[in-house]
Amino acid sequence: MTLRCAMMMVLLSLMSSASLTAQSDSVGGPYDRLVIRGATVIDGTGSPPVGPMDVVIEGGTIVELRRTTPVDLAQGAGGAVRAPADRVIDGAGRYVMPGIIDAHTHMGSLLPDDYIPSLWLAHGITAVRVFVAGEDDQAVRLARLQRRGEAVLAPRIVLYRFWRGDDPRLWNADGAREVVREWKAAGLDGIKISGKPGLFPDVLAAISVEAAAQGMGVAVHDGQDGVAPMNAVAVAGAGVTTIEHHYGYAESTFRDRTVQDLDPDYNYGEELKRFRATARVWDEADLDVLYGDVLDTLVALSRGGRFTMVPTFSVYEDQTDLARARNLPWLEAYTMPALMDRWTPNPEVHGSFYFEWTSGDEGAWGRLFLKWLPWVNAFKNRGGLVVVGSDTGTSYHLYGFGTIREMELMQRAGFHPLEVIRSATMESARAVGTPDAGVVRPGYRADLLVLDLNPLEDLKVLYGTGVERVSRDGVATVQHGLTYTIVGGRVIEAQERLAHVAALVASARHNATRP
Ligand SMILES: [Zn+2]
Repeated sequence: MTLRCAMMMVLLSLMSSASLTAQSDSVGGPYDRLVIRGATVIDGTGSPPVGPMDVVIEGGTIVELRRTTPVDLAQGAGGAVRAPADRVIDGAGRYVMPGIIDAHTHMGSLLPDDYIPSLWLAHGITAVRVFVAGEDDQAVRLARLQRRGEAVLAPRIVLYRFWRGDDPRLWNADGAREVVREWKAAGLDGIKISGKPGLFPDVLAAISVEAAAQGMGVAVHDGQDGVAPMNAVAVAGAGVTTIEHHYGYAESTFRDRTVQDLDPDYNYGEELKRFRATARVWDEADLDVLYGDVLDTLVALSRGGRFTMVPTFSVYEDQTDLARARNLPWLEAYTMPALMDRWTPNPEVHGSFYFEWTSGDEGAWGRLFLKWLPWVNAFKNRGGLVVVGSDTGTSYHLYGFGTIREMELMQRAGFHPLEVIRSATMESARAVGTPDAGVVRPGYRADLLVLDLNPLEDLKVLYGTGVERVSRDGVATVQHGLTYTIVGGRVIEAQERLAHVAALVASARHNATRP
């Protein structure tokens, strides 16, 4: 890279940080008084849509809902808002729902500060729980700006830190309690555990108890590098708030041993082997036990209000069908070259293990989906909490797009679209510790979406790139569902954010090809 080019890169990265806090024509508010007039409201609780309704927002808070259906008007119970407003959004023919809360994300520091947040806003994501390795993560920087009250053009960020590092206290119970208190004082909202040392039973118990006392969450990625017998039932029983992914459930059904029947040459550090083997544990699962004792125990813990499943179905879809994943229609225009580079198979990058991938591998992952998805649906039907988490950023699983895909896969599992939206909003808000959001309700945060198309008819209308419809005479048109993403009362044009991403990608590509 030439010096001139290097200076340009620095300038570009400064500009992209600045554009996160800049005002532009496509962003307005918060307003003293904003009214969305006459919309159909999907409130996030699982209730059916109702409208027309006026939604009144003052600053960053919903202050009033008024039903203006003919029956309400006739009964004198409703009535349109007549008081003056600083801005009125015409809701006629439109839908209002709470913003989507993605409970499982990562940022890192590879990409410009405004790239991932713009993809999120272009897909109606108004809050994210981000798992960070340390202080230098982009998410920490953005969360600090938000907490100082700066108008950052990004979803609200909830910070969980990985239980990893050089600190010897991470390995024992007394040390663990101290670390949890220090992390609370440092502004962290929770702890993310992925294997050892957090999965030693004494350490996990100490973390869970101290985190509950501090009002923090504990998210666990169970798995083959865990500590037997810390299967998912044991982990949930220790008092953690969320279990991510599919790991540990199949092991919970074993009755004649406690560990998977792994080959002697298995090595968790070799990701191709790891991801091949982890699907096949579901071939060993006992379905009677899975739907019996395991489900009973997990449902009881979830009804107690603390335990929630974050399946992240969509992060595994590439394992079920690699060709599909590599040819998704939005990858070309919206993936930064640096991200695409990371997705090229590389033994040093997590999730980039496709040196070879066979029909047998896709078959094993397909069988896993056939067992796992309906079981998660059964968990939900018995009263268990399941929320939307995408784990976007690894192979071909692009931010924003991947969150909407997660919602589609919940529908595939058997969730009604109203249940999918409830999982993505009200229940996700509770799971990540932001219970002031996720419902269209007075007193709640004005984190809302305004849609031109009905997401209950087709969740795909939430994709930033919209949906294609073809008329009977063969004319294709693209229709965009999401018009405005409202975060804390700020009204953001979703399509402008997506165009911004396309411009970032085009400019990065242009710079990469220059001598
Ligand atoms: Zn993850």
